[in-house]
Amino acid sequence: MAEKSFKYVILGGGVAAGYAAREFAKQGVQPGELAIISKEAVAPYERPALSKGYLFPEGTARLPGFHVCVGSGGERLLPEWYAEKGIALILSTEIVKADITAKTLTSAAGQTFKYQTLIIATGSTVIKLTDFGVQGADAKNIFYLREIDDADKLVEAIKAKKNGKAVIVGGGYIGLELSAALKINNIDVSMVYPEPWCMPRLFTAGIAAFYEGYYANKGINIIKGTVAVGFGTNADGEVTEVKLKDGRVLEADIVVVGVGGRPLTALFKGQVVEEKGGIKTDAFFKTSIPGVYAVGDVATFPLKLYNDIRRVEHVDHARKSAEQAVKAIFASEKGTSIDEYDYLPYFYSRAFDLSWQFYGDNVGDTVLFGDNSPTSPTHKFGTYWIKDGKVVGVFLESGTPEENKAIAKLARVQPAVSSLDELGKEGLAFASKF
Ligand SMILES: Cc1cc2nc3c(=O)[nH]c(=O)nc-3n(C[C@H](O)[C@H](O)[C@H](O)COP(=O)(O)OP(=O)(O)OC[C@H]3O[C@@H](n4cnc5c(N)ncnc54)[C@H](O)[C@@H]3O)c2cc1C
Repeated sequence: MAEKSFKYVILGGGVAAGYAAREFAKQGVQPGELAIISKEAVAPYERPALSKGYLFPEGTARLPGFHVCVGSGGERLLPEWYAEKGIALILSTEIVKADITAKTLTSAAGQTFKYQTLIIATGSTVIKLTDFGVQGADAKNIFYLREIDDADKLVEAIKAKKNGKAVIVGGGYIGLELSAALKINNIDVSMVYPEPWCMPRLFTAGIAAFYEGYYANKGINIIKGTVAVGFGTNADGEVTEVKLKDGRVLEADIVVVGVGGRPLTALFKGQVVEEKGGIKTDAFFKTSIPGVYAVGDVATFPLKLYNDIRRVEHVDHARKSAEQAVKAIFASEKGTSIDEYDYLPYFYSRAFDLSWQFYGDNVGDTVLFGDNSPTSPTHKFGTYWIKDGKVVGVFLESGTPEENKAIAKLARVQPAVSSLDELGKEGLAFASKF
Protein backbone atom coordinates (compact mmCIF):
# COMPACT_ATOMS: atom_id res chain seq x y z
CA MET A 1 0.00 0.00 0.00
CA ALA A 2 1.28 3.46 -0.90
CA GLU A 3 2.77 5.52 1.89
CA LYS A 4 1.14 8.89 2.56
CA SER A 5 3.27 11.72 3.80
CA PHE A 6 2.27 14.89 5.68
CA LYS A 7 4.16 17.73 7.27
CA TYR A 8 1.92 17.50 10.36
CA VAL A 9 -0.11 14.55 11.61
CA ILE A 10 -2.54 14.58 14.54
CA LEU A 11 -3.10 11.05 15.81
CA GLY A 12 -6.63 10.89 17.21
CA GLY A 13 -9.74 12.71 16.09
CA GLY A 14 -11.33 13.88 19.34
CA VAL A 15 -11.66 17.17 21.15
CA ALA A 16 -7.97 18.08 21.14
CA ALA A 17 -7.61 17.19 17.44
CA GLY A 18 -10.49 19.47 16.48
CA TYR A 19 -9.23 22.45 18.45
CA ALA A 20 -5.71 21.83 17.12
CA ALA A 21 -7.06 21.86 13.55
CA ARG A 22 -8.70 25.23 14.13
CA GLU A 23 -5.44 26.61 15.48
CA PHE A 24 -3.48 25.17 12.53
CA ALA A 25 -5.86 27.03 10.20
CA LYS A 26 -5.41 30.26 12.20
CA GLN A 27 -1.64 29.87 11.97
CA GLY A 28 -1.89 29.51 8.17
CA VAL A 29 -1.35 25.79 7.56
CA GLN A 30 -1.15 25.13 3.83
CA PRO A 31 -3.48 22.72 1.97
CA GLY A 32 -2.09 19.18 2.05
CA GLU A 33 0.20 19.79 5.03
CA LEU A 34 -2.02 18.47 7.85
CA ALA A 35 -3.78 15.15 8.41
CA ILE A 36 -5.98 13.97 11.28
CA ILE A 37 -6.06 10.20 11.64
CA SER A 38 -8.93 8.84 13.71
CA LYS A 39 -10.40 5.50 14.63
CA GLU A 40 -13.82 7.16 14.77
CA ALA A 41 -15.95 7.54 11.64
CA VAL A 42 -16.85 11.20 12.22
CA ALA A 43 -15.06 14.54 12.35
CA PRO A 44 -13.98 15.83 15.79
CA TYR A 45 -16.87 16.60 18.11
CA GLU A 46 -17.48 17.80 21.66
CA ARG A 47 -17.28 14.49 23.52
CA PRO A 48 -19.08 15.67 26.72
CA ALA A 49 -22.34 15.82 24.71
CA LEU A 50 -22.39 12.00 24.61
CA SER A 51 -23.37 11.69 28.26
CA LYS A 52 -25.77 14.64 28.16
CA GLY A 53 -27.80 15.94 25.20
CA TYR A 54 -27.08 12.86 23.06
CA LEU A 55 -29.14 10.71 25.42
CA PHE A 56 -32.03 13.10 26.08
CA PRO A 57 -35.48 12.11 24.77
CA GLU A 58 -36.21 15.74 23.88
CA GLY A 59 -33.96 18.42 22.46
CA THR A 60 -31.64 15.56 21.50
CA ALA A 61 -28.12 16.50 20.36
CA ARG A 62 -27.01 14.86 17.12
CA LEU A 63 -24.15 15.47 14.72
CA PRO A 64 -23.47 17.73 12.94
CA GLY A 65 -24.86 19.84 15.82
CA PHE A 66 -21.96 19.34 18.24
CA HIS A 67 -18.83 19.18 16.14
CA VAL A 68 -16.02 21.23 17.67
CA CYS A 69 -15.71 24.09 18.49
CA VAL A 70 -19.32 24.78 19.55
CA GLY A 71 -18.67 23.64 23.13
CA SER A 72 -16.63 26.76 23.82
CA GLY A 73 -18.84 29.06 21.78
CA GLY A 74 -16.66 28.81 18.66
CA GLU A 75 -17.23 28.02 14.99
CA ARG A 76 -18.67 24.57 14.17
CA LEU A 77 -16.11 22.72 12.06
CA LEU A 78 -18.06 20.53 9.64
CA PRO A 79 -16.30 17.95 7.45
CA GLU A 80 -16.53 20.50 4.60
CA TRP A 81 -14.45 22.95 6.65
CA TYR A 82 -11.52 20.48 6.71
CA ALA A 83 -11.92 19.91 2.97
CA GLU A 84 -11.89 23.67 2.28
CA LYS A 85 -8.72 24.10 4.30
CA GLY A 86 -7.05 21.14 2.60
CA ILE A 87 -6.81 19.26 5.92
CA ALA A 88 -7.02 15.49 5.36
CA LEU A 89 -9.56 13.82 7.68
CA ILE A 90 -8.54 10.18 7.62
CA LEU A 91 -11.41 8.55 9.48
CA SER A 92 -12.28 4.96 10.50
CA THR A 93 -8.54 4.34 10.58
CA GLU A 94 -6.96 2.79 13.65
CA ILE A 95 -3.24 3.18 14.06
CA VAL A 96 -1.74 -0.01 15.46
CA LYS A 97 1.97 0.82 15.27
CA ALA A 98 3.99 3.97 15.79
CA ASP A 99 7.67 4.11 14.90
CA ILE A 100 9.11 7.28 16.35
CA THR A 101 12.54 6.75 14.77
CA ALA A 102 11.17 6.19 11.26
CA LYS A 103 8.47 8.86 11.87
CA THR A 104 5.75 6.56 10.64
CA LEU A 105 2.34 5.37 11.79
CA THR A 106 0.83 2.14 10.50
CA SER A 107 -2.90 1.48 10.34
CA ALA A 108 -4.74 -1.78 11.06
CA ALA A 109 -5.27 -2.08 7.29
CA GLY A 110 -1.51 -1.85 6.73
CA GLN A 111 -1.34 1.71 5.43
CA THR A 112 1.69 3.79 6.38
CA PHE A 113 1.60 7.50 7.20
CA LYS A 114 4.78 9.51 7.40
CA TYR A 115 5.04 12.77 9.35
CA GLN A 116 7.58 15.46 10.13
CA THR A 117 5.73 16.67 13.23
CA LEU A 118 3.34 14.48 15.21
CA ILE A 119 0.71 15.49 17.76
CA ILE A 120 -0.43 12.56 19.89
CA ALA A 121 -4.09 13.14 20.81
CA THR A 122 -5.34 9.61 21.41
CA GLY A 123 -7.30 10.46 24.58
CA SER A 124 -8.44 7.76 26.97
CA THR A 125 -10.19 4.44 26.86
CA VAL A 126 -12.62 3.00 29.39
CA ILE A 127 -11.67 0.51 32.06
CA LYS A 128 -13.88 -2.55 31.52
CA LEU A 129 -15.22 -5.02 34.07
CA THR A 130 -14.05 -7.80 31.74
CA ASP A 131 -10.49 -6.52 32.45
CA PHE A 132 -10.97 -7.80 36.01
CA GLY A 133 -12.68 -11.02 34.95
CA VAL A 134 -16.03 -10.06 36.53
CA GLN A 135 -18.35 -12.99 35.88
CA GLY A 136 -20.86 -12.37 33.06
CA ALA A 137 -19.37 -8.94 32.28
CA ASP A 138 -19.45 -9.66 28.53
CA ALA A 139 -23.26 -9.98 28.51
CA LYS A 140 -25.34 -8.03 25.98
CA ASN A 141 -26.70 -4.64 27.12
CA ILE A 142 -23.73 -3.89 29.37
CA PHE A 143 -22.47 -0.57 28.04
CA TYR A 144 -19.49 1.75 28.36
CA LEU A 145 -19.41 5.27 27.06
CA ARG A 146 -16.44 6.82 25.32
CA GLU A 147 -17.17 7.25 21.63
CA ILE A 148 -20.20 8.04 19.52
CA ASP A 149 -20.64 4.38 18.53
CA ASP A 150 -21.00 3.49 22.22
CA ALA A 151 -23.63 6.21 22.65
CA ASP A 152 -25.57 4.95 19.60
CA LYS A 153 -25.72 1.44 21.06
CA LEU A 154 -26.99 2.81 24.36
CA VAL A 155 -29.65 4.90 22.60
CA GLU A 156 -30.86 1.75 20.82
CA ALA A 157 -31.08 -0.13 24.12
CA ILE A 158 -33.01 2.73 25.77
CA LYS A 159 -35.55 2.47 22.93
CA ALA A 160 -35.70 -1.33 23.08
CA LYS A 161 -36.07 -1.50 26.87
CA LYS A 162 -38.75 1.20 27.28
CA ASN A 163 -39.66 1.76 30.94
CA GLY A 164 -37.12 -0.90 31.89
CA LYS A 165 -34.57 -1.07 34.68
CA ALA A 166 -31.00 0.13 34.56
CA VAL A 167 -28.09 -0.34 36.93
CA ILE A 168 -25.29 2.20 36.74
CA VAL A 169 -22.00 0.86 38.02
CA GLY A 170 -19.77 3.67 39.27
CA GLY A 171 -20.42 6.95 41.08
CA GLY A 172 -18.19 9.32 39.14
CA TYR A 173 -18.97 11.71 36.27
CA ILE A 174 -20.33 9.05 33.95
CA GLY A 175 -22.36 7.43 36.73
CA LEU A 176 -23.99 10.68 37.79
CA GLU A 177 -24.65 11.98 34.29
CA LEU A 178 -25.88 8.64 32.94
CA SER A 179 -28.18 7.99 35.91
CA ALA A 180 -29.85 11.33 35.24
CA ALA A 181 -30.07 10.77 31.47
CA LEU A 182 -31.63 7.31 31.87
CA LYS A 183 -34.08 8.56 34.50
CA ILE A 184 -35.19 11.32 32.12
CA ASN A 185 -35.87 8.50 29.63
CA ASN A 186 -38.28 6.94 32.14
CA ILE A 187 -35.96 4.11 33.05
CA ASP A 188 -35.90 2.89 36.63
CA VAL A 189 -32.32 3.60 37.80
CA SER A 190 -30.10 2.19 40.53
CA MET A 191 -26.53 3.43 41.05
CA VAL A 192 -23.91 1.25 42.71
CA TYR A 193 -20.50 2.36 43.93
CA PRO A 194 -18.06 1.24 46.58
CA GLU A 195 -17.09 4.60 48.02
CA PRO A 196 -18.89 6.29 50.95
CA TRP A 197 -20.10 9.06 48.61
CA CYS A 198 -20.27 9.91 44.90
CA MET A 199 -17.40 11.60 42.98
CA PRO A 200 -14.97 11.21 45.88
CA ARG A 201 -12.06 12.41 43.75
CA LEU A 202 -13.57 15.91 43.77
CA PHE A 203 -16.63 16.06 46.00
CA THR A 204 -16.44 16.43 49.76
CA ALA A 205 -19.00 14.55 51.84
CA GLY A 206 -20.95 17.81 52.13
CA ILE A 207 -21.10 18.38 48.37
CA ALA A 208 -21.99 14.75 47.67
CA ALA A 209 -24.82 14.79 50.23
CA PHE A 210 -26.65 17.35 48.10
CA TYR A 211 -26.40 15.32 44.88
CA GLU A 212 -27.24 12.02 46.56
CA GLY A 213 -30.29 13.63 48.18
CA TYR A 214 -31.32 15.25 44.92
CA TYR A 215 -30.98 11.99 42.98
CA ALA A 216 -32.91 10.08 45.65
CA ASN A 217 -35.73 12.64 45.36
CA LYS A 218 -35.79 11.98 41.62
CA GLY A 219 -36.38 8.30 42.42
CA ILE A 220 -32.84 7.03 41.81
CA ASN A 221 -31.89 4.19 44.11
CA ILE A 222 -28.34 4.75 45.40
CA ILE A 223 -26.44 1.76 46.77
CA LYS A 224 -23.08 2.61 48.31
CA GLY A 225 -20.26 0.63 49.82
CA THR A 226 -20.46 -2.38 47.53
CA VAL A 227 -19.50 -3.44 43.99
CA ALA A 228 -20.88 -5.51 41.13
CA VAL A 229 -19.28 -8.97 41.23
CA GLY A 230 -21.30 -10.74 38.54
CA PHE A 231 -24.12 -10.53 36.02
CA GLY A 232 -26.95 -12.93 35.24
CA THR A 233 -28.22 -13.33 31.67
CA ASN A 234 -31.22 -14.72 29.79
CA ALA A 235 -31.16 -17.29 26.95
CA ASP A 236 -30.29 -14.50 24.45
CA GLY A 237 -27.22 -13.56 26.45
CA GLU A 238 -28.79 -10.28 27.59
CA VAL A 239 -28.11 -9.03 31.08
CA THR A 240 -30.99 -9.58 33.50
CA GLU A 241 -29.44 -9.03 36.91
CA VAL A 242 -26.47 -7.54 38.70
CA LYS A 243 -25.02 -9.45 41.62
CA LEU A 244 -23.50 -7.29 44.34
CA LYS A 245 -20.70 -8.21 46.68
CA ASP A 246 -22.96 -7.65 49.70
CA GLY A 247 -25.25 -10.42 48.42
CA ARG A 248 -28.00 -8.25 46.97
CA VAL A 249 -29.19 -8.89 43.42
CA LEU A 250 -30.60 -6.07 41.26
CA GLU A 251 -32.80 -6.64 38.22
CA ALA A 252 -31.42 -4.97 35.09
CA ASP A 253 -32.31 -4.61 31.41
CA ILE A 254 -29.47 -2.18 30.87
CA VAL A 255 -26.17 -1.78 32.72
CA VAL A 256 -23.86 1.18 32.19
CA VAL A 257 -20.38 0.94 33.62
CA GLY A 258 -18.40 4.08 34.40
CA VAL A 259 -15.47 2.99 36.52
CA GLY A 260 -12.78 5.19 35.05
CA GLY A 261 -10.48 5.56 32.12
CA ARG A 262 -6.89 5.03 31.15
CA PRO A 263 -4.83 7.19 28.76
CA LEU A 264 -4.07 5.60 25.39
CA THR A 265 -0.28 5.71 25.40
CA ALA A 266 0.51 2.07 24.54
CA LEU A 267 1.60 2.80 20.95
CA PHE A 268 4.45 4.90 22.31
CA LYS A 269 5.59 2.71 25.22
CA GLY A 270 9.35 2.70 25.43
CA GLN A 271 9.65 5.36 22.71
CA VAL A 272 8.82 8.50 24.71
CA VAL A 273 9.32 9.40 28.36
CA GLU A 274 6.21 8.79 30.45
CA GLU A 275 5.23 10.07 33.86
CA LYS A 276 2.16 9.71 36.10
CA GLY A 277 0.59 7.37 33.55
CA GLY A 278 0.84 9.83 30.66
CA ILE A 279 3.32 11.08 28.10
CA LYS A 280 5.61 13.62 29.73
CA THR A 281 5.68 17.03 28.08
CA ASP A 282 7.07 20.48 28.71
CA ALA A 283 4.97 23.65 28.96
CA PHE A 284 4.61 23.63 25.15
CA PHE A 285 3.43 19.99 25.05
CA LYS A 286 6.71 18.84 23.48
CA THR A 287 7.54 15.27 24.46
CA SER A 288 11.04 13.89 25.04
CA ILE A 289 11.31 13.38 21.24
CA PRO A 290 11.89 16.43 19.00
CA GLY A 291 8.92 17.00 16.68
CA VAL A 292 6.55 14.88 18.77
CA TYR A 293 3.88 16.59 20.89
CA ALA A 294 1.22 15.12 23.20
CA VAL A 295 -1.99 16.93 24.19
CA GLY A 296 -5.28 16.36 25.98
CA ASP A 297 -5.88 13.34 28.20
CA VAL A 298 -2.54 11.66 27.37
CA ALA A 299 -0.24 14.54 28.36
CA THR A 300 1.47 14.83 31.74
CA PHE A 301 2.45 18.50 31.75
CA PRO A 302 3.82 21.16 34.12
CA LEU A 303 0.97 22.77 36.03
CA LYS A 304 2.73 26.06 36.66
CA LEU A 305 0.19 27.42 39.15
CA TYR A 306 0.90 24.57 41.60
CA ASN A 307 4.52 23.93 40.63
CA ASP A 308 3.56 20.35 39.90
CA ILE A 309 3.27 18.04 36.92
CA ARG A 310 -0.13 16.53 36.23
CA ARG A 311 -2.38 14.80 33.76
CA VAL A 312 -5.87 16.28 33.36
CA GLU A 313 -8.77 14.37 31.78
CA HIS A 314 -11.10 17.26 31.06
CA VAL A 315 -12.34 18.93 27.94
CA ASP A 316 -11.15 22.47 28.76
CA HIS A 317 -7.55 21.28 29.04
CA ALA A 318 -7.92 19.19 25.85
CA ARG A 319 -8.89 22.34 23.97
CA LYS A 320 -6.29 24.63 25.49
CA SER A 321 -3.38 22.18 25.36
CA ALA A 322 -4.08 21.53 21.67
CA GLU A 323 -4.01 25.24 20.89
CA GLN A 324 -0.82 25.70 22.91
CA ALA A 325 0.96 22.88 21.07
CA VAL A 326 0.06 24.22 17.63
CA LYS A 327 1.11 27.76 18.57
CA ALA A 328 4.40 26.33 19.86
CA ILE A 329 4.98 24.39 16.62
CA PHE A 330 4.55 27.51 14.48
CA ALA A 331 6.59 29.66 16.88
CA SER A 332 9.49 27.22 16.74
CA GLU A 333 9.33 27.18 12.93
CA LYS A 334 9.50 30.98 12.93
CA GLY A 335 12.21 31.03 15.58
CA THR A 336 9.95 32.98 17.96
CA SER A 337 8.61 31.98 21.36
CA ILE A 338 5.29 31.86 23.18
CA ASP A 339 4.34 31.97 26.85
CA GLU A 340 4.46 28.78 28.91
CA TYR A 341 1.15 26.96 29.45
CA ASP A 342 -0.34 28.36 32.64
CA TYR A 343 -3.45 26.30 33.21
CA LEU A 344 -6.12 26.84 35.83
CA PRO A 345 -7.88 23.47 36.25
CA TYR A 346 -11.57 23.75 35.34
CA PHE A 347 -14.10 20.92 35.54
CA TYR A 348 -17.86 20.99 35.13
CA SER A 349 -20.85 18.75 34.87
CA ARG A 350 -24.57 19.03 34.18
CA ALA A 351 -27.38 16.65 35.10
CA PHE A 352 -31.13 17.19 35.48
CA ASP A 353 -31.47 20.95 36.04
CA LEU A 354 -28.20 21.03 37.99
CA SER A 355 -24.93 22.49 36.80
CA TRP A 356 -21.69 22.85 38.68
CA GLN A 357 -18.29 24.29 38.01
CA PHE A 358 -15.00 23.80 39.81
CA TYR A 359 -11.82 25.81 39.45
CA GLY A 360 -8.42 25.28 41.00
CA ASP A 361 -7.10 22.56 43.25
CA ASN A 362 -9.13 20.44 45.68
CA VAL A 363 -6.56 20.19 48.46
CA GLY A 364 -6.48 21.35 52.07
CA ASP A 365 -9.31 22.32 54.42
CA THR A 366 -12.81 22.84 53.08
CA VAL A 367 -15.59 25.28 53.87
CA LEU A 368 -19.13 24.59 52.66
CA PHE A 369 -21.40 27.59 52.06
CA GLY A 370 -24.88 28.40 50.79
CA ASP A 371 -28.17 26.54 50.54
CA ASN A 372 -27.35 22.89 49.97
CA SER A 373 -30.66 21.35 50.86
CA PRO A 374 -31.54 18.88 48.07
CA THR A 375 -35.20 19.77 48.42
CA SER A 376 -34.73 23.54 48.33
CA PRO A 377 -36.14 25.18 45.17
CA THR A 378 -33.47 27.88 45.49
CA HIS A 379 -30.49 25.62 46.10
CA LYS A 380 -27.17 27.32 45.44
CA PHE A 381 -24.10 26.26 47.32
CA GLY A 382 -20.40 25.81 47.06
CA THR A 383 -17.17 24.88 48.75
CA TYR A 384 -13.83 26.60 49.17
CA TRP A 385 -10.58 24.64 49.52
CA ILE A 386 -7.96 26.39 51.65
CA LYS A 387 -4.30 25.44 51.73
CA ASP A 388 -1.54 27.29 53.60
CA GLY A 389 -4.01 30.07 54.45
CA LYS A 390 -4.98 30.68 50.81
CA VAL A 391 -8.11 29.76 48.86
CA VAL A 392 -6.88 27.37 46.15
CA GLY A 393 -10.09 25.81 44.85
CA VAL A 394 -13.78 26.69 44.51
CA PHE A 395 -16.83 24.60 43.66
CA LEU A 396 -20.19 26.18 42.86
CA GLU A 397 -23.55 24.59 42.05
CA SER A 398 -26.10 26.64 40.07
CA GLY A 399 -23.86 29.69 39.65
CA THR A 400 -24.76 32.47 37.22
CA PRO A 401 -22.20 33.19 34.44
CA GLU A 402 -20.93 36.17 36.50
CA GLU A 403 -20.60 34.07 39.65
CA ASN A 404 -18.74 31.36 37.77
CA LYS A 405 -16.40 33.99 36.37
CA ALA A 406 -15.83 35.28 39.90
CA ILE A 407 -14.92 31.85 41.31
CA ALA A 408 -12.53 31.25 38.39
CA LYS A 409 -10.80 34.52 39.19
CA LEU A 410 -10.65 33.65 42.88
CA ALA A 411 -8.99 30.31 42.19
CA ARG A 412 -6.40 32.09 40.05
CA VAL A 413 -5.75 34.93 42.55
CA GLN A 414 -5.60 32.58 45.58
CA PRO A 415 -6.43 35.23 48.20
CA ALA A 416 -5.38 34.76 51.82
CA VAL A 417 -8.06 34.04 54.41
CA SER A 418 -7.68 34.43 58.15
CA SER A 419 -10.80 32.69 59.43
CA LEU A 420 -12.54 29.68 57.92
CA ASP A 421 -15.65 30.50 59.98
CA GLU A 422 -15.82 34.00 58.51
CA LEU A 423 -15.30 32.59 55.02
CA GLY A 424 -18.19 30.19 55.51
CA LYS A 425 -20.45 33.02 56.71
CA GLU A 426 -19.48 35.27 53.80
CA GLY A 427 -20.01 32.45 51.34
CA LEU A 428 -20.21 33.43 47.69
CA ALA A 429 -19.96 37.14 48.52
CA PHE A 430 -16.26 36.51 49.28
CA ALA A 431 -15.65 35.50 45.65
CA SER A 432 -17.21 38.66 44.24
CA LYS A 433 -14.52 40.82 45.90
CA PHE A 434 -11.75 39.79 43.50
C1 LIG B 1 -19.05 10.54 27.86
C2 LIG B 1 -18.04 11.56 28.29
C3 LIG B 1 -18.47 12.73 28.90
C4 LIG B 1 -17.54 13.69 29.31
N1 LIG B 1 -17.99 14.83 29.90
C5 LIG B 1 -17.10 15.77 30.31
C6 LIG B 1 -17.55 16.97 30.94
O1 LIG B 1 -18.75 17.17 31.16
N2 LIG B 1 -16.62 17.89 31.31
C7 LIG B 1 -15.28 17.70 31.09
O2 LIG B 1 -14.47 18.55 31.44
N3 LIG B 1 -14.82 16.56 30.49
C8 LIG B 1 -15.70 15.60 30.11
N4 LIG B 1 -15.26 14.45 29.50
C9 LIG B 1 -13.80 14.28 29.28
C10 LIG B 1 -13.39 14.91 27.96
O3 LIG B 1 -14.31 14.58 26.95
C11 LIG B 1 -11.99 14.44 27.58
O4 LIG B 1 -11.10 14.91 28.57
C12 LIG B 1 -11.57 14.97 26.20
O5 LIG B 1 -12.41 14.44 25.20
C13 LIG B 1 -10.12 14.61 25.93
O6 LIG B 1 -9.80 15.01 24.63
P1 LIG B 1 -8.70 14.22 23.78
O7 LIG B 1 -8.70 14.86 22.43
O8 LIG B 1 -7.46 14.10 24.57
O9 LIG B 1 -9.29 12.74 23.65
P2 LIG B 1 -10.61 12.25 22.96
O10 LIG B 1 -11.60 13.34 22.81
O11 LIG B 1 -11.02 11.02 23.65
O12 LIG B 1 -10.14 11.85 21.49
C14 LIG B 1 -9.26 10.79 21.24
C15 LIG B 1 -9.43 10.34 19.82
O13 LIG B 1 -8.35 9.51 19.43
C16 LIG B 1 -8.85 8.39 18.72
N5 LIG B 1 -7.86 7.32 18.84
C17 LIG B 1 -7.39 6.75 19.96
N6 LIG B 1 -6.47 5.79 19.66
C18 LIG B 1 -6.38 5.77 18.32
C19 LIG B 1 -5.61 5.01 17.41
N7 LIG B 1 -4.75 4.08 17.83
N8 LIG B 1 -5.77 5.23 16.09
C20 LIG B 1 -6.63 6.19 15.65
N9 LIG B 1 -7.38 6.95 16.47
C21 LIG B 1 -7.25 6.75 17.79
C22 LIG B 1 -10.16 8.11 19.41
O14 LIG B 1 -10.98 7.30 18.61
C23 LIG B 1 -10.70 9.53 19.58
O15 LIG B 1 -11.31 9.98 18.41
C24 LIG B 1 -16.16 13.47 29.10
C25 LIG B 1 -15.73 12.27 28.51
C26 LIG B 1 -16.65 11.32 28.11
C27 LIG B 1 -16.18 10.04 27.48
